[in-house]
Amino acid sequence: MLLTNAQVYCDATDTAPHSEIALNGAYVGTHFDGPKRDLGGRIVLPGLTDAHLHIFPLALFRLQLDIAAARITSIPALIDALHQVPDARRHGGWLQAAVLVEDTFTEARLPTRAELDAAFPDTPVFLRRYCGHVAILNTAALNALGLLTRQPNVASGSFRRDAAGNLTGQADEAAAAWIFARAPAPPDAQILSEISAVIDQCLAYGLTSLVEAAVGFTLGYDREAAIWTKLRAAGNIPVRLGFMNELTTDQAAARALTPQWDANWSSETLKFFADGIIGGRTGALSEPYCDIDTMGDVMHPPGVLQSQLTAAHAAGWRIAVHATGDRGISQTLDAITAAQGDDTSRRHRIEHFFVAPKGGLHTAANAGINVVTQPGFLHRMGTSIARGLGPRALGCVYPGASALAANVALAFSSDAPTGPLSPWDGIAAAITRRAPSGEPIGPSESLPFAQALNAYISGGAHAMRHDHFRSTLAPGQAADLVVLNMNPFTASPDELNDCRADLVMKDGKVVKDDL
Ligand SMILES: [Zn+2]
Repeated sequence: MLLTNAQVYCDATDTAPHSEIALNGAYVGTHFDGPKRDLGGRIVLPGLTDAHLHIFPLALFRLQLDIAAARITSIPALIDALHQVPDARRHGGWLQAAVLVEDTFTEARLPTRAELDAAFPDTPVFLRRYCGHVAILNTAALNALGLLTRQPNVASGSFRRDAAGNLTGQADEAAAAWIFARAPAPPDAQILSEISAVIDQCLAYGLTSLVEAAVGFTLGYDREAAIWTKLRAAGNIPVRLGFMNELTTDQAAARALTPQWDANWSSETLKFFADGIIGGRTGALSEPYCDIDTMGDVMHPPGVLQSQLTAAHAAGWRIAVHATGDRGISQTLDAITAAQGDDTSRRHRIEHFFVAPKGGLHTAANAGINVVTQPGFLHRMGTSIARGLGPRALGCVYPGASALAANVALAFSSDAPTGPLSPWDGIAAAITRRAPSGEPIGPSESLPFAQALNAYISGGAHAMRHDHFRSTLAPGQAADLVVLNMNPFTASPDELNDCRADLVMKDGKVVKDDL
């Protein structure tokens, strides 16, 4: 196959695009072989990677009420929308809604148990905050889970209580995860078909490789792993997939799991948490937040994270640690460095790296650690970031330019549904770095377009350990490529939001064709 009349960028920083590209089976070739296809002057790029997203909840939330997607902006409107949910989407008789961003509500707060009880005295209602770490239940749901009579032990977070000792209906962290794993879920077949729909959405954005950032985050590890296994057995998956497992080394060993790397399907990473999130003011900072009297906190006492990571490294796993505050990131850098010793080849990862600690990027670069950030957050949550961090929001938050200067392996990602799924939204945010209100967030960290795109192409391939076979469109590399509906090199950041892939190939096979 020869693709002609095109502008083929071998990689994001290519300054001399070719007018054609030869495909030799699954690889980029050097000579014409078989039929020709005229691309009408369109841009061709290597397939993009989303190195951290949550495919499973994206799929599940398509079967619930997605509050952000439905553009619901008040508590009465949410209650109204819950009343409208058809029976077919009330799995086990429950009403479930997700992606609740209370900052976008006129009340600027989460709904209460009492408000939900007044509207739904008998129907269990379960809401999930967009961060994925907070659940809100009404009395019928608390009752259905037996929480009114007994309180399960959880490792972190809490089932919150008011001053009188009554459950407020809100649960955080491991307490929320306990609920996620027990609330009724749709049948596997329905979830599988929605996973395919999410993968199709990703292809339309030009993403050909995806990393599921936490197997076990939504329905518990075993149920989710069983569903992923069914997807793999069904075959014909049009993207390359990687998985981070939300398991400790002991939990992985108990399931006889070992790290597996394959060009199409890798499960070689265990996921850990160092702290919470900046939006929830639980990310561990070295100085207090500006709008609330807390510095956030690390999730583990000193030494515990390090011993978890040491065990994972020793068992051959790659490590991914969620760390957002500068204090949480420093603790993580120390723990990874100690866990890996002289072996800097494993490419352990730090997810988010929100408020960079002084010297942290150099430490990460020297330790061979991948930094995986989400520039799309800058736009979605910029106002809350600016409020919480104050003048620090003008410094090294969500590093871009300083990460490249430090020579760190930087990959961009969406963290969807927490951030917007489109990599083009992420690239626009990495360039403009503005909150919805227009406030600048770390303006000196802005990247030029090509560098931002590169963090989704070669940065993503590096994060998946795919760089030896698919980071460019040079001869001999895998023919994973996308043909775009516009020229993103000349588009404004606003125009980038409309960028889509009309034709997508993986391993030289067409997996999407709207050209
Ligand atoms: Zn995530």
